[in-house]
Amino acid sequence: MVRRNEIRENEVAVEFPDAPVANFIFIGRIHTPWTDRLACPRQGRQDGPVCRIEIFEPWIAALDGIEKYQHLEVLYWLHESRRDLVKQSPANDGSVRGTFSLRSPVRPNPIGTQLVRLVKVEGGNVFVQGLDCLDGTPLLDLKPDRCAFTPIAPRQPGDDEVAPKA
Ligand code: SAM
Repeated sequence: MVRRNEIRENEVAVEFPDAPVANFIFIGRIHTPWTDRLACPRQGRQDGPVCRIEIFEPWIAALDGIEKYQHLEVLYWLHESRRDLVKQSPANDGSVRGTFSLRSPVRPNPIGTQLVRLVKVEGGNVFVQGLDCLDGTPLLDLKPDRCAFTPIAPRQPGDDEVAPKA
C-alpha cells in the first residue's frame, strides 16, 4: 500500500479503534530528497544520499556525545500512512499478508526504523546516510546502534576455558 487511500484486491481494512494514545512528541524533522512515496527507497542504503535530521529545541543538547558513534538508529513517524489495514498485498497481485509480517509503512502505529551511517553533526543538525523516508517526516528518536552501544562485559573467571566437546 503506497498510495494514501488505495485498497488493493483482498486487502483488509478495519475500523480504527478509539483507544488510549501514547504521548509522543516530535523531536525534529527529517530532510530528504524524496517528496513522493513512490520515489522513496523501500529501505535506506548506507551509500544513499546524505540527509539532514533537524533537531528541535530544547532537544539539541541531547545530541552531546552522539558524534562518537558511526551508526545510529533513527525512529520516525510515517505521517502519511493509513493505519487501518490488517492484511496487505505488497505485490498488488491479490495475495495478502498480515501487517505484522511486513515492513510496510502502513501499520496501526506507523513507526519507521532505520540504521544509518553518521556523516557529521553540526549544531542541531545530524547528517546521515541510509534513510528512506519522505522530506518532512517527523522524528521520534535517535539512538546509537545497539552493537556499538553494548558495553564490553568485564572478564569473568573461566572465560578462557575451552568448552568440552559434546
Ligand atoms: N525503514 C523503515 C522500516 O523498515 O521501518 C521504513 C520502511 S517503509 C517500507 C519505507 C517506505 O515508506 C518508503 O518507500 C515510502 O513508500 C514510505 N514512506 C516514507 N516516508 C513516509 C512517510 N512520511 N509517510 C508515509 N509513508 C512513507
